[in-house]
Amino acid sequence: MHLFRRARIPLACLPAPLNQPAGLADAILEPWRECDVTVEGNRIIAVRDSGAPAEAGNFAGAVTDLGGVLVFPGVLEVHTHLDKCYTWDRAPGRHSDFWESLAILGADSVRWTEEDVYRRAEFGLRTTWAHGTNALRTHLDTGRKVGAGSHAALERLRAEWKGRVEIQTISLCSFTEFFSGGGDRIIELTARYKATAMGGFPQPNPDLPKQLDYLMAAARELGIGLDLHVDESGLAHAECLRATAEAILRNQFPHPVACGHNCSLSVQDPARARETIALVKEAGIGIISLPLTNLHLQGRTRGPAPQGEAFGAPRTPQWRGLTLLHELIEAGVTVACGGDNVRDAFIGWGDFDLIEVYIESVRLAHLDTRLAFSPAVVTTGPAAIMGLPGYGLIAPGSPADLIVFSARKLYSLLSRPATPRRFIHGEKFRDAVLPDFDEQESWPKT
Ligand SMILES: [Zn+2]
Repeated sequence: MHLFRRARIPLACLPAPLNQPAGLADAILEPWRECDVTVEGNRIIAVRDSGAPAEAGNFAGAVTDLGGVLVFPGVLEVHTHLDKCYTWDRAPGRHSDFWESLAILGADSVRWTEEDVYRRAEFGLRTTWAHGTNALRTHLDTGRKVGAGSHAALERLRAEWKGRVEIQTISLCSFTEFFSGGGDRIIELTARYKATAMGGFPQPNPDLPKQLDYLMAAARELGIGLDLHVDESGLAHAECLRATAEAILRNQFPHPVACGHNCSLSVQDPARARETIALVKEAGIGIISLPLTNLHLQGRTRGPAPQGEAFGAPRTPQWRGLTLLHELIEAGVTVACGGDNVRDAFIGWGDFDLIEVYIESVRLAHLDTRLAFSPAVVTTGPAAIMGLPGYGLIAPGSPADLIVFSARKLYSLLSRPATPRRFIHGEKFRDAVLPDFDEQESWPKT
């Protein structure tokens, strides 16, 4: 057993009744409570207010006084693409426009053997573990020509990382391929490799309700849920989120459904968007926002291309692509923020760092107006969407994964993203070495 004393834990990551601001000096700007955390093996077994009277008798294990610093639970990556990561050097985006990037990665996917995906994904997992992530959900492109190597690589990694990073996989497919003869293969790979959910990126079209009915029937047959890429554009007529909510209700679909992106919701008529949010709430959809990728990919425009040139001059972005996070939160919808692509044609950088995602989400989505809630977007929100009870919390029964910041206040972490972190795993501090990018220099170039 190990008792870690004086950890300032965000209220959003504490169990009741410790999660209440009552009696705290400045719970609006500094919404945490100083607690003592007892760990036994790989689980937290007790959390008590540091100010509570000491228990009778001597504590029978090790004791470390953390000295009143900010402590987060392990954070969760709810939406990424380990099959695509670190392909930028061999398949860079030129304009990083959504459809162009999709085509570049489609061409690169012929190289996605089990060994290739394993090498890149393993680097990604070491990176995210070194930043403090203890659960990760990755989409894997799945179709007639792609996916077998990726699913096989992730099956190995899931076993190797058990007890450190809990890994979930989603079979991401093109609806066009699924409904033009590729469906059987996609379902077969999903079943063989025990994917957590079916994925896909629906596009507005007259057959969408039928397509969603069919996909839900296939997922129901497999006994799994859905995690879709939805409305990743600024087109007001893109209402695949609404169509998904309607399909869940029409089919009484019993499994969990998450929708990522949902950018176009924020350019729709407010009354229409409110109706859609009510349907999302009724259908129980978990909403995933990908603020960093949307910031990079949305609103990316250029002027007219001069003769003989592929692109015109870049124009300053106006549209930033965030979904209606505050309105969804107000409606009681579960929301989470994820990192999405890392060093692939969609976005040429990224580091699987969910604390970066948290800090940037606070800034981009004005979560400073809900500071007490804000840590939930990388902790309890993704844990609920991923169906991982106890994750994202520092509570009895939670995994003993703690991020210990060299910061006593939340404002100092938000001010200084480079604040050093240490990590507790089980009863001990653990090593956290970020893999060096130089390692990638020795990777095969083709
Ligand atoms: Zn994605």
